[in-house]
Amino acid sequence: MIKNITCVTCPMGCSVNVEISETGEIISITGNTCKRGDLYARNEVTHPKRSLATTVRVEGGVYNVVPCKSSEDLPKEKIFDCMQAINSARVNAPVKLGDILVADVCGTGVNIIATNHCPAK
Ligand code: SF4
Repeated sequence: MIKNITCVTCPMGCSVNVEISETGEIISITGNTCKRGDLYARNEVTHPKRSLATTVRVEGGVYNVVPCKSSEDLPKEKIFDCMQAINSARVNAPVKLGDILVADVCGTGVNIIATNHCPAK
């Protein structure tokens, strides 16, 4: 089986073909222009990850929510659970840029951190 993946590591957006055996092993990777594309395609087939950017509710702040992002990419299969955990989280103002809003979200070892500040009312 050949799986076609667009590498999103840089704006070139190379079209990478990953040949996979019936047992799920990678036989070959072609179409990538550099080694980063090989690594991206390999991870995408074996253990896809995604970054997450959203908001967390703030209590007692001048804003109701503060923007946030994952400190590292999260396993793709855990994105839905992580979104639910983040949606149910509440933090108290003030929030500073870089504050950890949800630590070790869903046991992934990844923190959800504030990407802006929110002063208290
Ligand atoms: S393979 Fe290399 S050059 Fe092509 S999109 Fe990926 S990182 Fe960019």
